[in-house]
Amino acid sequence: MLYDSRSIGAEEFDKEVTVEGWAQEVRNLGGITFLILRDRYGVLQVTAPKKRTAPEVMQTINSLSRESVVRVTGTVKPSAQVKSGYEIIPSSVLVQSAAMTPLPMGVVDKVDVEVETRFNHRFMDLRRPEARAVFEIKSLTLRLIDEYLVDNGFVEVFTPKLVASGAEGGATLFRIDYFGKVAYLAQSPQLYKQMLMSTGLDRVFEISPAFRAEPSDTVRHVSEFISFDGEMAHIDSQRDVMEVIEGCMQYVISEVKERGARSLEVLGSEVAVPKAPYPVLTYERAVGMVRDAGLRLELGEDLGTEGEKLLGDLMAQEGHEMYWIIEYPEEAKPFYIMEKDGTTYSHSFDLDYRGQEISSGGQREHRYDRLVQRMERKGLDPKDFGFYLNPFAYGMPPHGGWGLGVERMVQKMLGLGNIRETILFPRDRNRLVP
Ligand code: ATP
Ligand code: MG
Repeated sequence: MLYDSRSIGAEEFDKEVTVEGWAQEVRNLGGITFLILRDRYGVLQVTAPKKRTAPEVMQTINSLSRESVVRVTGTVKPSAQVKSGYEIIPSSVLVQSAAMTPLPMGVVDKVDVEVETRFNHRFMDLRRPEARAVFEIKSLTLRLIDEYLVDNGFVEVFTPKLVASGAEGGATLFRIDYFGKVAYLAQSPQLYKQMLMSTGLDRVFEISPAFRAEPSDTVRHVSEFISFDGEMAHIDSQRDVMEVIEGCMQYVISEVKERGARSLEVLGSEVAVPKAPYPVLTYERAVGMVRDAGLRLELGEDLGTEGEKLLGDLMAQEGHEMYWIIEYPEEAKPFYIMEKDGTTYSHSFDLDYRGQEISSGGQREHRYDRLVQRMERKGLDPKDFGFYLNPFAYGMPPHGGWGLGVERMVQKMLGLGNIRETILFPRDRNRLVP
């Protein structure tokens, strides 16, 4: 069995172990050579005194190029000089894979590497513990979401990603050739999860990729992201939906703090559990607040990046990191959202986290005639959506749901400046490789 930097302790002192990792640094001081070996959990020191080391082992260590993968067998000795409290005196060193020189980018160099360089050589970038820790937290986040939803009676589903029509507007659809027919990559599971509400699977969730041809180059948009969607039937109002999301977010963040402590330490991130219940602002009030703070914005307009950020600052002053914005103008919302009768508003909400939207949702229009009317008013041809409309004609309960961008949530939770840090191989207008 191989040991690693985490599993070696006082119990292994004076015993022989075998470890494998990347040669982070080789320091040849003449009479002695230090090899710093890095693995998933940290680094350990291999110490080779010339006098007590076989010449071929000495030769191998001294000629190692940085980032080569080596397997070292040796005796563990306590050492007060080494941070970990021990060093390994090698008896054999096997080069599993020699790294070429020069490296495309440094792993431990203190100099700031350009973001583009980092993403061009992402495999190398991910050798940095703090780049990798983000994905341990992301993985944990996904598992916690799953736990919470299943505990609350939700069934996990998977809907098609190859679709014949979009739900979130034509501008961001990726068009593909599907055996000679026009198809699209799914922008969201919207239509399918709603169709499921007519079946008796009355609480469903899905965590899967969503694709959007986002024309803008921002720190919160990519063209492929993981969408956490939920839909629930027999609701009284969208409040029922908001309660599930709020409960889920509180659970995820507080558990990440506990179970993700090691990764958070690597990241140097202090995760704060937001104050609950989250305050609820109407859209009108939110617009009023940012206008009072000096932003030029008309009622009816989208808050936009600047508005969201400013609102985030204002809410932070009151100690709130998460807050709801409800009752958006129905005009600004997609066809499937329910109108608020007698007003120009809709039964819709956004959840914002530290000045950035992370989720949108609301109550859906479940009445067939009203839904068709709304589609027509939005310039859509109901004939293109026959497969979606059919379930509404044969018994559809009141329902509502949400879509939440997992990467945006993780980005904000960890206080990262760019959503790309939370994606192994990000996709945007300018990037399709690696
Ligand atoms: P925005 O206005 O910020 O572009 P949106 O309102 O168009 O987002 P929705 O259709 O409401 O997005 O999608 C639900 C959630 O999915 C968003 O709140 C966000 O967290 C996430 N999301 C949407 N588009 C993207 C994207 N291009 N990259 C990453 N996450 C996204
Ligand atoms: Mg939205």
